[in-house]
Amino acid sequence: MYRLRALGTRLPAVACSRPTPSFFINSHVHTARYQCRQLASAADSATGDPFWRAVPQWKDVSNAEFMSYRWQVRNTIGNKDKLETFLKQALPEVLTPSKDPRLSEIVTREKFIKDAMLGLENAPMAIRLTPYTLSRVNWKNAIDDPIRRQFIPLNSCFVDDHEKLTLDSLHEESDSPVPGLVHRYPDKALMLATSICPTYCRFCTRSYAVGDDTSTVEKKRQKPSRRRWDVIYQHLEKTPQITDVVVSGGDTYQLEPHLLREIAYRLLSIGHIRRVRLASKGLAVLPNRIIDPHDDWTQTLIDISNEGRRLGKHVCLHTHFDHPDEISWITKAAARRLFENNVVVRNQTVLLKGVNDSPETMGRLIRELSDLNIWPYYVYQCDMVRGIEDLRTPLGVLLDIEQQLRGTIAGFAMPQFVVDLPGGGGKRLASTYRTYDQETGVSTFQAPGLNGEKGQKLYEYYDPKPVQAL
Ligand code: SF4
Repeated sequence: MYRLRALGTRLPAVACSRPTPSFFINSHVHTARYQCRQLASAADSATGDPFWRAVPQWKDVSNAEFMSYRWQVRNTIGNKDKLETFLKQALPEVLTPSKDPRLSEIVTREKFIKDAMLGLENAPMAIRLTPYTLSRVNWKNAIDDPIRRQFIPLNSCFVDDHEKLTLDSLHEESDSPVPGLVHRYPDKALMLATSICPTYCRFCTRSYAVGDDTSTVEKKRQKPSRRRWDVIYQHLEKTPQITDVVVSGGDTYQLEPHLLREIAYRLLSIGHIRRVRLASKGLAVLPNRIIDPHDDWTQTLIDISNEGRRLGKHVCLHTHFDHPDEISWITKAAARRLFENNVVVRNQTVLLKGVNDSPETMGRLIRELSDLNIWPYYVYQCDMVRGIEDLRTPLGVLLDIEQQLRGTIAGFAMPQFVVDLPGGGGKRLASTYRTYDQETGVSTFQAPGLNGEKGQKLYEYYDPKPVQAL
């Protein structure tokens, strides 16, 4: 308590000078909560372990700088040249050898950088890496590090794509009645508000649209545009069966707070829309922003959540953690701020080879997120997306992990282990496959709840070919 008070006396009067949003009903409550939040986050920011100083180029970066959203954005790595410069400083000269025999040649910094630069040439996703994410990588063990594996491709990892892989495996484009609105389930729609994210994942299900063009993929971008959004709102207004809208992209973290507010309030104003989910990986890759008192995104999210509650509607944040190493004291402070402000947060994880494909790692992730009141919602079988065969696992791995974990975790904290059916059949529990031949690696599913032909057809998921197993 003493520390909080002492820090509180040094805080700038940001809370008081910040204009109160016109729609906010009780400005006194708002200001008091904002001040409390500032005190708590200031304490965390001043005393938290400066783990980023293990990265040589950030050895002198203070807690205050690292916690600043602006500093994070300024130092985000978004192209090959910057990544090369970063790696030259971050990597030790000699690396811990990989457990993967295909990578046994990469033993030095020079070889790693050469391989990574080649990997980027051939990858379907561009790179974008926040200092937060880069600071969570163990660079001595860079080849097998679970965070590196998700975001920085190595050319030696690549294996030939299964012939059934595509860039839009879920057929989102053909399920879009208007550009940027996927309407697959009768009562639910997905609004693609932007195609930019704070970090680009190698295995993005929306590789056809998200991020910058790469040398192998020209992206079908969804630019943030009021004209495009208006068409979406009009479609939603005249479709009363849609009661649930997910706003994603891309990532809502990349929407300016006033645009996030505009979209969410517009959706909440449509009578038949009862639930609005805002999707962002921000909490996993840039949690600093959630507790940065100089940035408005989180207060906007809190306001939207409160407005939904006032209207008797459900608003929540859907985030995306894949490995326990992504969680730090900054994540904990950010999650606490959201929890204290009644923002419901759920997590979606993608099962990835060499990242989280064991009951131990997945169980640890689920438990640690639950402890932060980030509720495990889905664990996805990795989609059949081109260029990421090294990250896919057979369906049997997902089934086994679920079997091992069920009964060891409270039922309400146990995520659903699902396959998002290739071809647009939607999410099905992995255990509800109709057939699964582990020899051929082909599993089949049905989605009888869907209308028309979609409810009749048989959907096929293809495991990676056995040659790709480590
Ligand atoms: S944050 Fe989500 S939308 Fe963005 S690249 Fe990663 S998986 Fe794709």
